[in-house]
Amino acid sequence: MKAVAVMFPSREVRVLDVPEPRLHSPTEVKVRTLEIGVCGTDQDLLEGHHGAAPRGEDHLIVGHECLGQVLEVGAHVQGLKPGDLVVPRVRRPCPHAHCPACRHGHPDFCVTGDYTERGIQGAHGFCAEHFVEDAAYLHKADDSLREVAVLTEPLTIAEKGLRQVAHIQSRLPWKVGPGKALVLGAGPVAQLGAMALLRAGFDVTMYSRSPKPNEKAAAAEAVGAPYLSSEEVTAAALKERLGGVGLIYEATGASKVAFDSLQVLEENGVLIFTGVPGREEPLELRGDQVLGQLVLGNRVMFGTVNAADSDFREALEDLERFRARWPGRVEALITRRHPPSELAKVVEARGGIKHVISFQEHAR
Ligand code: BGC
Repeated sequence: MKAVAVMFPSREVRVLDVPEPRLHSPTEVKVRTLEIGVCGTDQDLLEGHHGAAPRGEDHLIVGHECLGQVLEVGAHVQGLKPGDLVVPRVRRPCPHAHCPACRHGHPDFCVTGDYTERGIQGAHGFCAEHFVEDAAYLHKADDSLREVAVLTEPLTIAEKGLRQVAHIQSRLPWKVGPGKALVLGAGPVAQLGAMALLRAGFDVTMYSRSPKPNEKAAAAEAVGAPYLSSEEVTAAALKERLGGVGLIYEATGASKVAFDSLQVLEENGVLIFTGVPGREEPLELRGDQVLGQLVLGNRVMFGTVNAADSDFREALEDLERFRARWPGRVEALITRRHPPSELAKVVEARGGIKHVISFQEHAR
């Protein structure tokens, strides 16, 4: 079968002929790949900033944002049948008995760093005609989500972030309503994050580089999140304008923007970092100011990566809610579908919001 892989160490992208995967255990499922989302992590992978081939191999099949359709199920698989749509999780646990997170079903909090991630870190991904996966890592998607379920994985980043915010802010039992949130960036993680925050009741503003008009700003405003450009409104002016926000959802991977935004965060607020930084970015910080803001205002900054079982379930439910609340807007986040042979071109190309690789005969 055909698979799209990045070669090591050259990081060149090739379409390879690889053996058809087979079921090796009664709990496994064989899946036909329908769609693969392309993201900044794929770019980092191709540029050599991130990722690794499986041990002893010279290539990594890419693709970690995936929607597939069940072809065959092992004898012990329950709740899935041929024809069902499925979304796989990305990270697999490390092998160490002393990793409490992995041993508790939370490789997204792995402490050893020896986890694998399909399509990113030491395990082949889903950008192939077929793949085999244990049913425990597959989430059934409703047929009605066929056009958008490829966005499940990038949405899980927000779901995991919001789950942690709920834990942290349970320290403020007197807080009335979610309040204001600021989303940094305007790419797919930011757009889906904005939708998740709106759904959770936040009053959301999106803050990104490009001035209006642009398609990302239009996408945000179409769901009710006003958009401001950092080229036109400084962080200090933003503070004046919004009067402080209780939550900042960073989805840029750019450290300067992220730390600058701290001035907009009100007392007891939370700043979530989700962007995996790619390029080097030296940064000068007034350490005393940052510490002062954190300590004297009970502010919390935390990083979040990957997502767990419950985040995927929540994301699939949220996609249904988003589609009901904003008809056509989730679909509109997908700029274009491309054939698998165009992966390298898609990763390099700028413009649009989410680009998807389609394994249908003709990319739509
Ligand atoms: C993926 C995560 C992954 C992270 C780091 C992100 O693009 O969505 O699943 O853990 O990259 O590799």
